[in-house]
This record gives sequence, C-alpha cells and structure tokens, in this order.
Amino acid sequence: MSTDAAEPLPPLDDILDTARVVALPLVTRFRGIDVREAVLFEGPEGWTEFSPFVEYDDAEAATWLAAAVDFGWMPQPAARRDAISVNATVPAVAAAQVAAVLARFDGCRTAKVKVAEPGQRLADDVERVRAVREAMGPEGRIRIDANGAWNVDEAEHAIHALAEFDLEYAEQPCASVEELAELRRRVKYMGIPIAADESVRKAADPLAVARAGAADLVVIKAQPLGGVRRALDIVAEAGLPAVVSSALDTSVGLSMGVALAAALPPARLRLRTGHRLAACGGRRRPVPRRAGRQARRGAGHGRARPPRRVRGARRAPRLVAGASGPVLRQAQQPGLKLSGRAEAQRAGVKLSGRA
Ligand SMILES: [Mg+2]
Repeated sequence: MSTDAAEPLPPLDDILDTARVVALPLVTRFRGIDVREAVLFEGPEGWTEFSPFVEYDDAEAATWLAAAVDFGWMPQPAARRDAISVNATVPAVAAAQVAAVLARFDGCRTAKVKVAEPGQRLADDVERVRAVREAMGPEGRIRIDANGAWNVDEAEHAIHALAEFDLEYAEQPCASVEELAELRRRVKYMGIPIAADESVRKAADPLAVARAGAADLVVIKAQPLGGVRRALDIVAEAGLPAVVSSALDTSVGLSMGVALAAALPPARLRLRTGHRLAACGGRRRPVPRRAGRQARRGAGHGRARPPRRVRGARRAPRLVAGASGPVLRQAQQPGLKLSGRAEAQRAGVKLSGRA
C-alpha cells in the first residue's frame, strides 16, 4: 500500500494528451480568487485532478502532481465502506447570513464554521456559531476552524467563549505544533478535541504534530499529501483519527478525497465528526444511519457536499468544495466527457449529509 518512489511514471505525452484546463467560478470569493482553475487528465484508472494554488512553489505543487498521477495511473486502495457523511462549511459570514449558507447544504447535519477571520472580533465568531447552533438544533454537530490565526491565549479564551455551543472539535486553532500542544494541555479538561490541519498538510514533517501530542485528530487532504495511498500511510503512522477534507477541488478532485475517506481503516475514522468529503470516524463505533435523522453525534464527515449534488453532477455540475465551503459551478467544457456521477461512482461510495 505504501507509495514507492521506484514506481515508474507514465510518459509525459500520455498525461498531456488528455489534459484539460477548467475554470470554475466561485459563488463566494475565497482565498482571494473568484475563479478556481484546475488541470484534469485521464489515466487508465480514470480522470484525475491537478489543482495546486497559483502561489505554490514547484516543490509544493509537485506533491499535488504526484497525487494526480497516482490517482489516474495507479489502482487505489479498496473502499472499506459504502457511505460517507459530509459536512457543510460556513465561511466567516455575518450571523444573519448563516441560515442562507446552510440552506445550500441541504441535509448536512454537521457544519464546519470558520472563525478568527482577520478584521473580525471574537464576538463575531460567537454570534456566527450561535446562529449555526440555532439553525441546526441541538443534534447538529459544529466544528470550528481558525486556520491557525489565534495565539495560545486567544485560542483558550475563544474556546471558552464558544464551548457553550457544544463543539465537536477545534481545527488548527493556533499555527505551530508547539502552540497546539500547549493549548491542548490547557483545554483538555473541557473535552473539546484539537484537530490539526495545516500542521499536517503544509508541514515538512506531517507526523510532527502526532509525535508532539499536539492534536486529537488530523485533517487530511489527498492532493497536498501526495495522494490517497500516501495519505493513508500518514494516518497509519500518526495513529490518530482522521477527517478527510478538500481544497476547492472540482468533482474529480473530490472523488480522490472520497476514495481516501472510503479507504480509511475503521479505527481511523473519526465518528462524532463529520466534514467535507469527510470521513468520519471516531472513538466510538459507527452508529447505523436512520432515515431522516442523523445518528447521534456519530458518524462522519466528508467533504461538504450534499449528496444530491454529487449524484446530479452530470446533469447540473454544481460542485461544492469541501473544507473551504464556496460553491463552484461547473463551467461549460465542450468535448470534455466528465461526469460527477461517474467520478463519485468510481470511489464506490455514497455521500450523505446525514450520519
Ligand atoms: Mg482547515
């Protein structure tokens, strides 16, 4: 299962022959962009995606390319489950806009809420999370993501202020592994887990956070970690539950995340969490899904996209990014035979907002 540096690369011409550049307008401006560009190409295993952000240097982009080649040319690990729960993502909007945002994620019972937005105050975060809790009801799961913007004191203060809303976990509250470890010690008594995201996918050593005891779970993304197989290796070595996320991927890139979520060992699936393509799993064993309602605080996550949109992607390719939330609308691509349905089916799983 491990990736082997000796694996032969496909001929460059084979990659370029099928390459298509797609540009998908974002409903909400994100990371300073209004249009998400990606390169798609087709290997013997199916369509695959290469979509590093433009500011990345060659070394970082090369990891994303390795993931794309691996997904298109190499058989992927077998799925261990046939359903994956996904979460909604709430950007740092005003509380009054929360209901409209959540309405885009029909059926999702887990929401990731962005907090610590530059230029905003903790009171804005409190009001936003309060609005999410009110919209989702007591059974909804709420996780927050600060993208490393707080220092340890700010994070501790914020978690205290937000704890009343019953947080599932706090994702990357601080930037460094050392800060995460210190914060985790401080808030451990509150029972709110700390998740590491950037400390895994942007770090030279993605396992440092696990070795330092700085997180209770890891957020993983297939492209930044070099592909599905490499990401599985990292999860295995980290020995922590994992939540699968995405990076404004198209439906093709999302299918890579779905494959990753589907292949995670049960013990590594964080239950009681859920998010974008998200995988879910957890310390508790999975709870059977019940029609019409989410199994209590249990199941999964996944990249945030309503299953209906996944299934309908061929007809109405509305793509929803996982972790980051903005909705992408598929641009017209004459001659490009892409099917969100087919790509989702490739992973052999069904996405659901309900756990
Ligand atoms: Mg994050």
